[in-house]
Amino acid sequence: MTPEKMSEVLATISEFVGQSPDDLAVTKASRKSPYATLVSTILSLRCRDEVTQVVTPRLLALADTAEKMLVFSDGEIADIIYPTSFYRRKAVAIRKASKQIFEEHGGRVPDTLEGLLSLFGVGRKSANLILTLGFGKPGICVDTHVHRISNRLGFVKTKTPEQTEAFLRKVLPERWWIDINGVLIAFGRAHCTPISPKCSTCPVRKKCGRVGVEQSR
Ligand code: SF4
Repeated sequence: MTPEKMSEVLATISEFVGQSPDDLAVTKASRKSPYATLVSTILSLRCRDEVTQVVTPRLLALADTAEKMLVFSDGEIADIIYPTSFYRRKAVAIRKASKQIFEEHGGRVPDTLEGLLSLFGVGRKSANLILTLGFGKPGICVDTHVHRISNRLGFVKTKTPEQTEAFLRKVLPERWWIDINGVLIAFGRAHCTPISPKCSTCPVRKKCGRVGVEQSR
């Protein structure tokens, strides 16, 4: 698919889902600081956005810098962020990453992909999200929705999210680098679901290769 067609398809999906990426918890946090983006990104992993919307401001109200976060123990952070999924593991990740930021980066979240990847609990997907939302730098955050739908649509033909990210970096118009994540997450949750996507009412049905789709509604 050409870059122009990709843009058209994404614009149609964006209008269809009617949810601005601006509504996501991570995006809201990113308006505060890169550190808030980092914390919200960790909290949002495998967690419903409704829960992240509640726990992110609760934690940041108590500790909005790495230094302040270190006042709290792992157990205390876990209590604050409950009921987010994997709250104990996430509490450890938030505290360890905060310690690295405070001790190794002068209290500032690193603004490079390599620097972010060196932080505990920050994988490639999170690093790209922090880079794009926290710093406004180019990056493409490829999670399971972006990977699945990009392949179904025929944007890419890849086996892993890492390959999808690498390919999209070459072909996707930069205007969509930040927004593709929020748009396809909303679309993937409500419409182009992992099992039995709603192809019969899909606004991009005629432009979609439906690659790998065996069953649909
Ligand atoms: Fe997903 Fe089906 Fe729409 Fe393609 S036609 S984007 S597979 S819902």
